[in-house]
Amino acid sequence: MKTLSKKSFAVLEQEFPVLKENQLTEIVGGQDSYSFTVANGTFVNYYHEDGNYSVYYPSDGGSSVVFDGVHVNGNTLPFQGQDTACQLNGQIRVGSEYASYFTLEDTVHEYGHYLQQQEMGTYKYIKDVGLNSIQTVYESDHSSQWYEQDATQRGNDYMNQYYPGYYYY
Ligand SMILES: [Zn+2]
Repeated sequence: MKTLSKKSFAVLEQEFPVLKENQLTEIVGGQDSYSFTVANGTFVNYYHEDGNYSVYYPSDGGSSVVFDGVHVNGNTLPFQGQDTACQLNGQIRVGSEYASYFTLEDTVHEYGHYLQQQEMGTYKYIKDVGLNSIQTVYESDHSSQWYEQDATQRGNDYMNQYYPGYYYY
């Protein structure tokens, strides 16, 4: 999978600082992207020759957030229920129920799973995180598992690096 370097990420930020509403409408209507609405905002997925990324536009008009390397989709989940989300190969899939209350901080967590896969490699990610996560997703101690806390930490580190001071939880 092709991913953006940090350098090109900075370039992207300059290209798309904050899109105005009419620009957003144009892009949503275009061929190179599509959007997915969640509780407090909209994701627009961009297909770029240098790599794919998703931008979160909060519904209150606040600052947008770029999630480099992932797309957020409302696709039907193959293994889990519709009130969960999962990440594999840069696709963050949000169940149809979960979308109604899926927030930026949930995205930050799922993005942390993407960063886990980037570092661990796909095999180890699926073996150590993916399969365990599916087994524990409906158990009360799911969020206390190391791979869940690690995902939240990685996501928060990303936010602290690129969006210092951003309110996300
Ligand atoms: Zn998780």
